[in-house]
Amino acid sequence: MGKKLIIANWKMNLTVNEASLFVHRLDDLVGKRRGVEIVLAPTMLAVQPLHLQVQHHHFNLAAQNFYWRDHGAYTGEVSASQLRGLVQYGLVGHSERRHVFGERSKDIRSKVQAAVRNGITPVLCIGETASERADGETADAIHDQLIGGLANITSVEVEHIVVAYEPVWAIGTGKFAAPRDVSRAVKLIRKQIKQLFGALAAKHVRVLYGGSVNVDNASAYLQIDGVDGLLIGDTSLDVRAFAEIIKKADVIDKAVARKAA
Ligand code: PEP
Repeated sequence: MGKKLIIANWKMNLTVNEASLFVHRLDDLVGKRRGVEIVLAPTMLAVQPLHLQVQHHHFNLAAQNFYWRDHGAYTGEVSASQLRGLVQYGLVGHSERRHVFGERSKDIRSKVQAAVRNGITPVLCIGETASERADGETADAIHDQLIGGLANITSVEVEHIVVAYEPVWAIGTGKFAAPRDVSRAVKLIRKQIKQLFGALAAKHVRVLYGGSVNVDNASAYLQIDGVDGLLIGDTSLDVRAFAEIIKKADVIDKAVARKAA
């Protein structure tokens, strides 16, 4: 079992200066937490300056978005090849990209492939909507989004990606999924990856939970078997709350390591 992976998705919040200040404060609050990999997904404007800053602070960076072609006449876009070396991760298929910006499976699998091609680990976000949930279609939604997102990469590449299970109805709403349901969804994700890409891919792929995670509920998710970390939106904008969650993840990692020894 690897380190817990905790990703802050700041969305369209924080200026470059505020993001930089956040990094200083976070470093003061968490110091070196060896059991946790901390990843910050800032506004695209802050990627370059934070890249220089985080090298001293043991944090990694994620792009919130990028275009799937490497270069060309695509006004306003930033490619994975331009982000190469600046970020370690790239969010793909986030529900806001799917539902606000109309990204389809075709775009999402091209982005996953572009990230892999450029040495960036894709974080494929999947999850059912409220109506899919009400209609008992959670398993189908997960299945379709996995196939739709991963169709262009190999089983070996799937081993190295991250899947974030984020029920759409839980994102930014304050409604969070019951740990029992998250556990069921995460098992389903690994089962479906096993069927599609084999046992090794299912074993090694990292699976995160995201959706209204806060200081009070984080530990419950982090302790679910098969959950490798968290993708956090709103709460990650509060440096103290985010640091608290990192400390909890570190404690859980140490407890697991002690049990395994
Ligand atoms: C997210 O943006 O991926 C997310 C999970 O947001 P929130 O934590 O605010 O629900």
